[in-house]
Amino acid sequence: MSIYCEARNFAEKFIDPCSKKVDEEGVFPVEAFAEIKKSDFLTLLIPKEQGGLGLGIQEHVEVCRAFAKSDATTGLCYMMHNVALIVVLSRGSEEMKKRIVKEVVEERKLLALAYSELGTGTHFYISDLKAENDGDKKLLSGVKSMVTSAGQASYYLVLAPSDVEGAIDNWLVPLETPGLKFEQNTWHGLGMRGNVSCQMHLNKAEVSVSNRIGEEGAGQEHVFNVVAPYFIAGLAGVYSGLGEHMLEETVAHAKERKYTSGTSLAEIETVQIHLAKMYNLVNSSVCAAKEATRSAAAGEEDALAKILSARIIACEMVIEAGRLGMRVGGGKAYNKAGSMERLLRDAYAGQIMAPSADVLTVWLGKAITGLPLV
Ligand SMILES: Cc1cc2nc3c(=O)[nH]c(=O)nc-3n(C[C@H](O)[C@H](O)[C@H](O)COP(=O)(O)OP(=O)(O)OC[C@H]3O[C@@H](n4cnc5c(N)ncnc54)[C@H](O)[C@@H]3O)c2cc1C
Repeated sequence: MSIYCEARNFAEKFIDPCSKKVDEEGVFPVEAFAEIKKSDFLTLLIPKEQGGLGLGIQEHVEVCRAFAKSDATTGLCYMMHNVALIVVLSRGSEEMKKRIVKEVVEERKLLALAYSELGTGTHFYISDLKAENDGDKKLLSGVKSMVTSAGQASYYLVLAPSDVEGAIDNWLVPLETPGLKFEQNTWHGLGMRGNVSCQMHLNKAEVSVSNRIGEEGAGQEHVFNVVAPYFIAGLAGVYSGLGEHMLEETVAHAKERKYTSGTSLAEIETVQIHLAKMYNLVNSSVCAAKEATRSAAAGEEDALAKILSARIIACEMVIEAGRLGMRVGGGKAYNKAGSMERLLRDAYAGQIMAPSADVLTVWLGKAITGLPLV
C-alpha cells in the first residue's frame, strides 16, 4: 500500500472524527496528534537505522496532503514538525541529531517553527530579535508571531541575528526554556482554527549554545536550502489535500441534491462544468506537487522552480475551488450544512503564509531567469 493510502486510512480513522470540533472550538487537534505521535508518521523523515521510516520529501508531501484532506490544521501542524525535524537531521551537530532523534523516536516529541515576526512579516528570514551572549548561553529577546502548535510542540526553531555580520542563526528552542512564554488564546484565525497560532514572547530566553543548529551565521542557508523545499512543497500538499476534500464534497452534493422532479444537480450542464473546472484545478495542483517533489528527490536543476510553482498553484487553486464549491453547494453550503464553508475559510490562509503567494510568484520569476531569490 502506498504511503498516501496508509495516511488516508489513518486520517479517516483518527483525524476525521475531530476535524469539526477543532474548527468549532478553535482547539488544537489533541486527539489526532495523540494518534500521530503513536504512529510511524511522526518519524517519517528519520533514517531507518535510527528508528524512523527513512522517507523523503515525496512521502512528506503525500502524508501532508492525505492528512489535510481530513483536516487542514492537522496537515499543517504535521508539516511543520517534519520541516523542523529535517533541519535538525540535515544541519544539526551529531550530538543534537542523536538527542532529538532519540526524543522523537522514544518520547514521541513534536517540533514546530517560530520564524515569523511582526516587523518583517512574510520575509521571515530577516529577524529583529535581540541576541546577547552569556557564557555558554544565548539570551534571545523579542516576539515571534503566529507560532503554530504553540505550547503543543516540545521544540521550536527560532531564527535570530547572528554574531556574524548581517547573518542569522537557527536555534532549537525547548518549550520549557526560561524566559519563553506564549500569549495563548489570541488566535482568532478566519480558518485553520485549530492551529493555536499565537505570539511567542522571548525575554532574555536562555538557550544553550549547543542548541544552535549548524555553524554561526548559517541560518539563511538553512532557510533557503532545507526549510524552503520541505515547507513550500509541504504547503502545496496541504492545500492540494484541502482542494480534494472540496471536490469530493461538491461532487457528492451534486449527486445527492435532487429536485421534486427527480433531477439531480449533477445532471445540469452548468453544474457539470463547475465540477469539471474544480476537478481540473485540484488535479493540476496534485500533479504539480507530485512532479515538484519527484524533481527535488531526483536533484534536478529546476526543482526549486517546480516547488514554488506547485505551492502557488495549490494556494490559488484552493480559493477558486472553494468559490465554485460554495456556488454548487447553494443554500446548504452557505448555511454551513456540510464542511464547504470551513474548507473555504481554511483555504484563505494558504496565500498569506510566508513566503506569501505574491512573494513566491516574484521568486518564481527570478528562479526561471536565473536571478538570486533575495
Ligand atoms: C494559519 C497560519 C499559520 C501560521 N503559522 C506560522 C508558524 O507556525 N510559524 C511562523 O513562523 N509563522 C507562521 N505564520 C505566519 C506567516 O507565515 C506569515 O509570516 C504571516 O502570515 C505574514 O503576515 P503579514 O501580515 O505580516 O504579512 P506582510 O509581510 O504584511 O505581507 C502582506 C502581503 O503583502 C504583500 N507583500 C509583502 N512583501 C512583498 C514582496 N516583497 N513582494 C510581493 N508582495 C509582497 C503580499 O501580498 C503579502 O501577502 C502563520 C500564518 C498563518 C496565516
